[in-house]
Amino acid sequence: MGLDGKAPNHRLRHDTQKEFGGTLGAVCIPIFLPLTVLFLIGLSRSPEASVLQWPPSLPSYNQLLDPLAPVLLLGWIALHILLYHLPLGKVSEGLVLRDGTRLKYPINGIHGLCVSVALLSLLMWLGAPLGYLFELLLPLAASAIAVSFLLSIYLYIRSFWAPSHALALGGNTGNPLYDFFIGRELNPRIGNFDLKYFCELRPGLIGWVVINFGMLMKEVELRGSPSLAMILVNSFQLLYVADALWNEEAVLTTMDIVHDGFGFMLVFGDLAWVPFTYGLQAAFLVVHPQTLTWLKAVFILLLNGMGYYIFRKSNSQKNQFRRDPTHPSVTGLETIATATGKRLLVSGWWGFVRHPNYLGDLLMALAWSLPCGFSHLLPYFYVIYFTVLLVHREARDERQCKAKYGLAWDAYCRRVPYRIFPFIY
Ligand code: NDP
Repeated sequence: MGLDGKAPNHRLRHDTQKEFGGTLGAVCIPIFLPLTVLFLIGLSRSPEASVLQWPPSLPSYNQLLDPLAPVLLLGWIALHILLYHLPLGKVSEGLVLRDGTRLKYPINGIHGLCVSVALLSLLMWLGAPLGYLFELLLPLAASAIAVSFLLSIYLYIRSFWAPSHALALGGNTGNPLYDFFIGRELNPRIGNFDLKYFCELRPGLIGWVVINFGMLMKEVELRGSPSLAMILVNSFQLLYVADALWNEEAVLTTMDIVHDGFGFMLVFGDLAWVPFTYGLQAAFLVVHPQTLTWLKAVFILLLNGMGYYIFRKSNSQKNQFRRDPTHPSVTGLETIATATGKRLLVSGWWGFVRHPNYLGDLLMALAWSLPCGFSHLLPYFYVIYFTVLLVHREARDERQCKAKYGLAWDAYCRRVPYRIFPFIY
C-alpha cells in the first residue's frame, strides 16, 4: 500500500502520444539543456561572445564551484517557501480535478516580489556587494541545475505513492526515462505546499530579476552608473515578472498547471532555465557596453509597450471569458459552441490570431534584445529560442484543443486562419 493508504499506481498506464521527441528527447534534453545554460553564461562573459564558435567551450569545473552559491540558492528558496506560507493575499481555487475536487492556492507571489525588492534595497543600503552576483553566475547556475535534478528524482519516486487520479495523463507511459522527464504527478504537494505552483512563479522568476539587478550593480561598479540599455533590459523584464505575479491567479488555468505533470522538464525550466537564460542580455551588457540613442530607446520602449498591451489584453480577455462568460467585458464578443459545453471566442483578440498572447510575448522578447545592438547574436538567444518554444507550444495546444473540441475547433481554425503572426503564420 502507498503512504496514503491507496495501492501504488505503477500498474496504471495511459497510452498517450509522447512529446518532446519521446524517449530520445527525454534522454538528450536533460543532458543538453543544462550544458547549454552553462555554455551561454560562459559565453555572455567572454569578450568574443560568439555563439557560433566551434568547438563550443564549456566553463571549467573550478569555475562552477563556489561554496557561497549553494548556500545563497538554498537560502533564497527557503525564504520563498516561508513567504508562500505567510497569510498574505487571497486564497484561490484551481480548476476541477479528475476526482471532482479543487485545490486551494495562496495568491501571494506579488508579496514575495515586494519583500524581495525591499530586501535588495536594504542590502544595497547596507553596501552589500550585489555586483558579485556577476562572478557567482556560473556557480549559482550549476547549483540550480543540481537542485533541479535532485527535486525531479524526489518527484519521480514519490509519484508512485500518489493515487492514480492525481497523475498527469501524459506522464504515465511506463517508460521511466520519459516519465521522469515529463512528470508523473500533476499537483505534488507536501501538506498544503504545492511544489509545482511554488516553482512556477517564485524562486526562479523573482530570482531572474534579482540576477538582472546584480548585473546592473556590476555595471555601476565598473563604469560608475548604469547604462540606458541596462536600465531598459532591467525595467522590461521586471515589468514582465511583476505582471506574471500580479496576475498569479491566471497561472491556475495554464497548461503547466492543468495538464503537465511536474517532472524534470518543468522543474529545470522553472529553477534553472528561466533565471539563467532569460536575462542573458543583462550579463552580456556588463562585458559589452552599448550606447543607445534616445530615438532608439523610444522605439524599443514603444515596441515593448505594444507587445505588453497585446499580451495582457488577450490573456485577460480569455481568462475573464473562462472564469465568467457573462461578465460585461466579454458578453459582446462573438463565440461558437463546442460539444463540451464550453464556448470558443471568435472575435476580439482571439479572433485576430489563434494565439494573440504569444504574439505579444514575442514582441516583448524582441524589445529585450534590441538594447544590446546588432554586433552579437547572443542577446537574441531568448527571442529565437522563445519563437521556437511558442511555435511548438502552439502546436501542442492545437492538438489538445482539436482532441477536446473536434469539429468546433476546425470551424474556429477556418474562421481565424493565422496561428500567431497575422498573414504570416
Ligand atoms: P494559453 O493562455 O494560450 O491557453 C491556451 C488555452 O486557451 C487552450 O488550451 C484553450 O483551453 C483556450 N483557448 C484557446 N483558444 C481559445 C478561444 N478562441 N476561446 C477561448 N479559449 C480558448 O496557454 P499558455 O499557458 O501556453 O500561455 C499563457 C501565457 O503564458 C501566454 O501569454 C504565453 O505567451 C505565456 N508563456 C510564457 C512562457 C515563458 O517562458 N515566458 C512559456 C509559456 C507560456 P480551454 O478551452 O480548455 O480553456
